[in-house]
Amino acid sequence: MIGLFGGTFDPVHFGHLRVALDVVQHLSLTQLRLLPLAAAVHRRQPIASPEQRMAMLQMAIRDEPLLVADDRELSRGGLSYTVDTLGAFRDELGAEVPLCLLVGADAFEGLPDWHRPLDILELVHLIVMQRPGAPRARDPWLRDQVEQRRIDEPAALRRRAGGHIYFQTVTQLDISATRIRRLLAQGLSPRYLLPEAVLSMAVDNGWYSVGDSVPRSTP
Ligand code: ATP
Repeated sequence: MIGLFGGTFDPVHFGHLRVALDVVQHLSLTQLRLLPLAAAVHRRQPIASPEQRMAMLQMAIRDEPLLVADDRELSRGGLSYTVDTLGAFRDELGAEVPLCLLVGADAFEGLPDWHRPLDILELVHLIVMQRPGAPRARDPWLRDQVEQRRIDEPAALRRRAGGHIYFQTVTQLDISATRIRRLLAQGLSPRYLLPEAVLSMAVDNGWYSVGDSVPRSTP
């Protein structure tokens, strides 16, 4: 079973990497594709370019064969709609292969505002990564979807191509790319929040230079 994990990865950090591995191991995924998005739909635009974010991601996962960087959203360009990406995976892998889309609990709460949320729920299983005992779904539509689709037994994910929602407790690391960019912009070190090789790559190339923590453009 393959997993998909999208994000800006601006830059990738241990928060992303540890939860990715938590889910890979817990669900025995054969592979987890990490997909940097080209242009964000619901948030500020990335600081680092697509090529730079991809290079940092590849560096971060070079020793972990179960994690694979996937550049399809970057090559497609434009706004990255999750439903389009999932459609492309379905075209490539067929309708029968179980697929899991990993989302953070915050992102999951915003699902009703995504483009074609119901299609997303049908195309793949949603793996919601959360803290233990976190409240689930305040939005009434989403709460209803959780009631209909929730499963608690990971084995059930393999019996269908998509359509289930599974809540996965993951390691809590209070790390964000925003904080890393802010530290760098202030001339402070974000060491130990992200892989050393990724930090060196970003610093040596001046990708997040002092005073550069704000986005260059918005959509
Ligand atoms: P930014 O601070 O720029 O908003 P970010 O650190 O949240 O970035 P993203 O690339 O936007 O990183 O995140 C992609 C996905 O990774 C999202 O689903 C998000 O919920 C999840 N994620 C990010 N940081 C963590 C973390 N520390 N622990 C668990 N999940 C995380």
